[in-house]
Amino acid sequence: MRATAATSTRAVGQSDDAPVAIVGAGFAGLTAGGYLRAHGVPVRVYEASSQVAGLARSFVDDDGFSSDFGAHFITNRLAAAVGFSSHCEPVPRYDEAFWLGARSREYPFGIISSPRFVTSALAAKLQRTRAVDSAADWFRKHYGRALADDVAIPLTEAWSGAPASELSAAVAEKIPASALQTLKLGLAKRISGRMVAIGYCRELHESPHVWHVYPRGGVGAMCEHMAQPLCDHISTRSPVESIVVEDGRATGVCVAGQFESASAVICTSPVHVLAKLVVGTDALQPLATFRYRPMVFVNLRFEGRGLLPAVVLWTPEREAPFFRLTETPLSAPWLAPAGKTIITADIGCQVGDEIWCMSDEELGGRCVEALTRIIPDATQRYLGCRVLRTPLAYPVFLRCYESERRRFAASSGVDGLYSIGRNGEFAHILLEDIYWRTRRTMRKLMAERSVASAC
Ligand SMILES: Cc1cc2nc3c(=O)[nH]c(=O)nc-3n(C[C@H](O)[C@H](O)[C@H](O)COP(=O)(O)OP(=O)(O)OC[C@H]3O[C@@H](n4cnc5c(N)ncnc54)[C@H](O)[C@@H]3O)c2cc1C
Repeated sequence: MRATAATSTRAVGQSDDAPVAIVGAGFAGLTAGGYLRAHGVPVRVYEASSQVAGLARSFVDDDGFSSDFGAHFITNRLAAAVGFSSHCEPVPRYDEAFWLGARSREYPFGIISSPRFVTSALAAKLQRTRAVDSAADWFRKHYGRALADDVAIPLTEAWSGAPASELSAAVAEKIPASALQTLKLGLAKRISGRMVAIGYCRELHESPHVWHVYPRGGVGAMCEHMAQPLCDHISTRSPVESIVVEDGRATGVCVAGQFESASAVICTSPVHVLAKLVVGTDALQPLATFRYRPMVFVNLRFEGRGLLPAVVLWTPEREAPFFRLTETPLSAPWLAPAGKTIITADIGCQVGDEIWCMSDEELGGRCVEALTRIIPDATQRYLGCRVLRTPLAYPVFLRCYESERRRFAASSGVDGLYSIGRNGEFAHILLEDIYWRTRRTMRKLMAERSVASAC
């Protein structure tokens, strides 16, 4: 039986005076640590690597080009919430488009102006409701066959690495829920000239007052700012080797062979890693098989700027080696030296496969060759590339995970153990959702502490 805060008792030697142990100093761990410290709860943050920020790290090379793991657009609302507004610039441009049939279609208006997509979406609406068992069913039911088969399904398969028929319909939860709302926000963007954020946050309302900003120094700089009040409480180069559970309750962590008592444990590791870290219960074992999609980001440098038709260009046609291209200097001009630009190509892969093992030079060459369909003189403009690889970019929502995934979304199943963040929640969420959801979980943790101390 899964224990609850009300039914469990404190393990011997454990007290509320022991700090809350936080595994990982990425954005989620820093959000949790900052919230708890601000409420007078002692914390200790253990970070395996030598620096904070995790996936939100930013890199600047000797030639003046900056890149993140993926481009990190945030909103003015998040910047204000973490006290970093004065270091963020509203972006002069943010738009998305699809490259289809040798031309670019702006999102969302270029899609709704296509008679083929609109007819097929209307036909789908008129059809009797069919059972929706998979992501493929969901896309065909909501978008119609043409838009689903030409755009949504190939893109989903490229970033997840699994057939859409094997993916849960819950994949669609990351997509803006209402077409009408998307169009309204698109109109607000056109009228106000603000780069209104669409599809970046689900926890709070999207509105014409929430727009994209880009932190100077990258999102990594924002994480360093969040780490400052915690600096005496963060241990870097300190991988947590295990999370100890006694009598159904997390009681501490092992670091460098030492047991460190904790009043609760918050983990930001991927869930399949969490399942292996936890000792003293097998409640998390089903998560050990969950997988994430590895990704290679090829940061291509070019002479010139404004080479893509939009800041983010989705490339659903299956012959392209990448599924998304981002020219971040259109939004944040300081990310590349004047007169030059950087385009990031996102490529899904498996650790150890041909793409993962390919040299930077070869990956760059392959991308540039494919890019000539969009930028005819890409080869002449090309100045080289820098490649970032991550084994953990996107949670893969296989249908066979669904019941365990939902159970885990409700509770870790272990008292005093909370799993947060994008990989920790196994959820397709961006930074702002991580922020609000983590704060909500921290409020729950504090309420459970009060109940436990009252008992
Ligand atoms: C391609 C891509 C593009 C993105 N673009 C955007 C965007 O434009 N806007 C946006 O808002 N978000 C974006 N995101 C999402 C954002 O990058 C992530 O959601 C966020 O950085 C995840 O933070 P996290 O703290 O949950 O996890 P992580 O950043 O993975 O942090 C986890 C930390 O825990 C540490 N750790 C793990 N295990 C242990 C252990 N056993 N002991 C100690 N430490 C451990 C790791 O070293 C790491 O530092 C993007 C993500 C990707 C992949």
